[in-house]
Amino acid sequence: MITAVVGANWGDEGKGKITDMLAQEADIIVRFQGGANAGHTIVNDYGKFALHTLPSGVFYDHTTSIIGNGVALNIPVFFKEYNEVVSRGVPAPKIMISDRAQMVMPYHILFDQYEEERLGGKSFGSTKSGIAPFYSDKYAKIGFQVSELFDEEALHEKLVRVCETKNVLLEHLYHKPLLDPDELMKELMEYKKMVEPYVGDVSLYLWNALKEGKQILLEGQLGSLKDPDHGIYPMVTSSSTLAAYGAIGAGVPPYEIKKIVTVCKAYSSAVGAGAFVSEIFGEEADELRRRGGDGGEYGATTGRPRRMGWFDCVASKYGCRMQGTTDVAFTVLDVLGYLDEIPVCTGYEIDGKVTTDFPTTGLLEKAKPVLEVLPGWKSDIRGIRNYEDLPENCRKYIEFVEEKIGFPITMISNGPGRNDIIYRNK
Ligand code: GDP
Repeated sequence: MITAVVGANWGDEGKGKITDMLAQEADIIVRFQGGANAGHTIVNDYGKFALHTLPSGVFYDHTTSIIGNGVALNIPVFFKEYNEVVSRGVPAPKIMISDRAQMVMPYHILFDQYEEERLGGKSFGSTKSGIAPFYSDKYAKIGFQVSELFDEEALHEKLVRVCETKNVLLEHLYHKPLLDPDELMKELMEYKKMVEPYVGDVSLYLWNALKEGKQILLEGQLGSLKDPDHGIYPMVTSSSTLAAYGAIGAGVPPYEIKKIVTVCKAYSSAVGAGAFVSEIFGEEADELRRRGGDGGEYGATTGRPRRMGWFDCVASKYGCRMQGTTDVAFTVLDVLGYLDEIPVCTGYEIDGKVTTDFPTTGLLEKAKPVLEVLPGWKSDIRGIRNYEDLPENCRKYIEFVEEKIGFPITMISNGPGRNDIIYRNK
């Protein structure tokens, strides 16, 4: 059976923690999209880790961690992370990398930087990990699959061809140093040495695993609102963040994805530019940012302070719907314990009309939040394991949100640790 763990919002919902937790029962964990541009923070017995490309299952002996074909694979970053995890005492994880995964090339990172520089104040707030140039090349059919490392002649020929077009842009648009195919070839041969032991036919492996009744987790990056089709385009990421894409980015039959756990944070945060209707500012935002997550809401990849906001029922209802949610994991609820009252965004006012349906980007820019204020519970809920033991106002908050988003909240995360979880039968 396949379970997908995906985000309802702008990312940073705590998917890493939920994946790590669900991985206890899984055999295989697959990353199916995205790259080293976002990070998961995981706290477990080995310590605190910020993972960018390694699947969150790497901390278990019993799991195989897979990089699916849909991922933007930055090979040096991947192995740096792998070596760091191992050097901190984690047993060497079992890894498989899809022969169809494409590689982030050194020039993708450069082009990402050059383009952000060129756009100046109008930039997308990229993490400059090369993700947008990578996916552009993939769909322009000038990307490089891992499998191509194993035919050196064809690889060199293609590099020469690709460098020709890249160099026109470098010379005339960006005024930067040109690419040398021979240098790139050397670098790719280093990549080859690194990945060779791990490369395999992932879709076939997963097909056989399914036949054997294995439990597979698909681990998404970012969230619904960063999806290139259904998110806040163009302030989105370049690969689909939706569970449906898991079928493609891992190479599995869509009907095998039986459970879709959508992770939804009890308040909002976002990184990068783009409309953020329930955003808050000033001291109110600073306090939530300081108290948020586990040690503050700062980007796991960039360290940038995250933009903060109240829980957004409109965005989350939409985010859960687009994922095809079967279960909501409601996270970081413990953080709200300091508030006397908790505002929640229940509608958007656009041109004088209130809607609860998430609009396209142009309208979103005009939306003003409609807020309802719920009473706080003014206590620390960490350590609680039964739903009934939560303070009444806390349960009311959960049930209010559940009613507004229309999907069952079956897990409530009340701390960063693996065991900080309350299961709720729905
Ligand atoms: P991801 O990219 O969706 O995995 O999100 P992040 O890595 O940004 O995770 C959010 C942060 O919140 C991390 O620092 C987690 O350790 C932390 N976290 C996850 N769940 C909880 C929770 O229920 N309570 C608290 N206080 N922190 C949590």
